[in-house]
Amino acid sequence: MKQNLLDFDAHALAVYLTEMGEKPFRARQLMRWIYRVGEPDFAAMTDIAASLRDKLAQCASITPPNVMREELSDDGTRKWLLNVGTGNAVEAVYIPEETRGTLCVSTQAGCALDCSFCSTGKQGFNRNLSVAEIIGQLWWANHQLGKNAEGLWPISNVVLMGMGEPLLNFDNTVSALRLMLDDHAYGLSRRRVTVSTSGIVPAMDRLREECPVALAVSLHAPNDKLRDELVPINQKYPLRELMAACQRYLEKAPRDFITFEYVMLDGVNDSEQQARELVKLVRDVPCKFNLIPFNPFPQTHYQRSRPDAIQRFRDVLMQADIVTTTRKTRGDDIAAACGQLAGQVQDKTKRTMQRIAGVH
Ligand code: SAH
Ligand code: SF4
Repeated sequence: MKQNLLDFDAHALAVYLTEMGEKPFRARQLMRWIYRVGEPDFAAMTDIAASLRDKLAQCASITPPNVMREELSDDGTRKWLLNVGTGNAVEAVYIPEETRGTLCVSTQAGCALDCSFCSTGKQGFNRNLSVAEIIGQLWWANHQLGKNAEGLWPISNVVLMGMGEPLLNFDNTVSALRLMLDDHAYGLSRRRVTVSTSGIVPAMDRLREECPVALAVSLHAPNDKLRDELVPINQKYPLRELMAACQRYLEKAPRDFITFEYVMLDGVNDSEQQARELVKLVRDVPCKFNLIPFNPFPQTHYQRSRPDAIQRFRDVLMQADIVTTTRKTRGDDIAAACGQLAGQVQDKTKRTMQRIAGVH
């Protein structure tokens, strides 16, 4: 089996090359070819000695994940389905905006945490993605989109808000984050790379020490009683501990606020009274709120909050001086919106088969 170089961060690549008898600085050279140029073929890496190129061609590869399908939304959002061999595909979503291009990246196939409103959670946990599968989503998306007129990659921001809980695949996620930040690879600023977590408290502390990037915390409820129900991991790391972890994170974070995500569920967590309770809860944590209108999927009993309820909820937070945005739903015609990522390869294949069967 060839070694996929996308599985290595800078340190691991230097170790690999040293073991081959090469100087560690070759790692930087190689990384620039792989990530900055986007070159998957060793033969094209002209400033690397021919002998090393030959050696690498024999025992290594640059292999992005296997993409089975691309879908394009009317609003320009693109979704790629990656085959990770678990029956259910994993998805990466590109969201173009005027001043930036954001890639939403997955870190696990499925998710073990089973939040009650999330379609990824409904499929259970399959496995962690490898470093190559995580950073490969960025490699692949940039490669497909191509460099812009200034010769830059179009993806300026990355959010780990796709499928899975990034902090439960900690080591691979951090290696991939390091490649996103590394000047010899993508060189993104820490402020433009966001990890979203449902609140794995000890891992938040580790992230702060090992690789602080912007942090989004999925809150969704103003008290433990409701959060226990919506986000079951709350039973292990309740709100008091979560708020304290947010404060600790801010001591080293590249931004001076935490983003709280809050999915708006009709009649469940969207009353003005609950907004007031929320204001009290986050009193000691500098934060911004991002309200996410619930995106429905098959087999859910929840409904999206009414626009006037979202507006009133937002007003309460704003009156307490908390900057609050409501997330625009993007790509919902291709089921690429938050929480809709389910990679339904099997279902769609089945439907296709039925269609084919129907024709014949
Ligand atoms: N596991 C991490 C990151 C992936 S989920 C986390 O939970 O934070 C990314 C975001 O989408 C989270 O805020 C999640 O709560 C939200 N989300 C999940 N299902 C949703 C749905 N059906 N509608 C809207 N947002 C949803
Ligand atoms: Fe997992 Fe996040 Fe979905 Fe919860 S919301 S089930 S943590 S992916």
